[in-house]
Amino acid sequence: MSNKPPSAEDEPRRRMIKPPTGGNLSGRAKGHTAVKTAKTRTASSAKWLERQLNDPYVQKAKAEGWRSRAAFKLIELDERFHLLHRGAKVVDLGCAPGGWVQVAIQRGASRVVGVDLLPVDPVPGAELIEADFTDPAIGPRLMQMLGDKPNVVLSDLAHNTVGHRQTDHLKIMSLLELASDFALDNLKTGGAFAAKAFQGGETEDLLLKLKLRFEAVKHFKPKSSRADSSEIYIVATGFKG
Ligand code: SAM
Repeated sequence: MSNKPPSAEDEPRRRMIKPPTGGNLSGRAKGHTAVKTAKTRTASSAKWLERQLNDPYVQKAKAEGWRSRAAFKLIELDERFHLLHRGAKVVDLGCAPGGWVQVAIQRGASRVVGVDLLPVDPVPGAELIEADFTDPAIGPRLMQMLGDKPNVVLSDLAHNTVGHRQTDHLKIMSLLELASDFALDNLKTGGAFAAKAFQGGETEDLLLKLKLRFEAVKHFKPKSSRADSSEIYIVATGFKG
């Protein structure tokens, strides 16, 4: 299967993209690109930009037309766990800027609905709303939009960290719990759930709940997930209903 996003004509707002100029996917760049505007930026903004400029997955995503480097994480998850299939109905929680939506469509999903706090440019074949998933009205709205039980629930939900360890931990947990509850309440039998978590971020209770309702529950760290990030994915397959 070619790992290319839905066709260029389908995406009128996509920018012109240059091929990558160097670097490899192990994370080592051939030539390091410095931030020319570093003096006019805050230290954290300059650091972020420098990392983006030298990240081979960012370059590869641009070259191939994916909206985010996160697209490669779902590609890896799908290659390992076979989550997506032709005709699959998919819910994508925290979908901006739309990399996972592109991957789901490109890999044969017949219908994708998604939600994010941020606006997302349209993706053909998907219906995406700008809303807060923690609003109790949003889960039912997504289900109404999908019109059927999903085969796959994806969550890449991530809040803006505040830097206070305990507060961040609680926020991560509550988004993961909400996404899990949505999957448990709505998935089609045999369906799958994949969600961003953080090492040490989930509770035994949550894992137990998933293990009782799915055939298999695994942790997976894609190669495209930054090594210095504690991000990890929980993948639950074979929903028992
Ligand atoms: N999977 C996406 C892709 O491939 O482009 C990237 C998702 S990004 C890592 C996480 C997203 O979660 C952000 O866009 C953020 O706005 C969204 N998010 C965080 N809290 C949310 C909430 N309460 N409701 C909806 N979206 C939320």
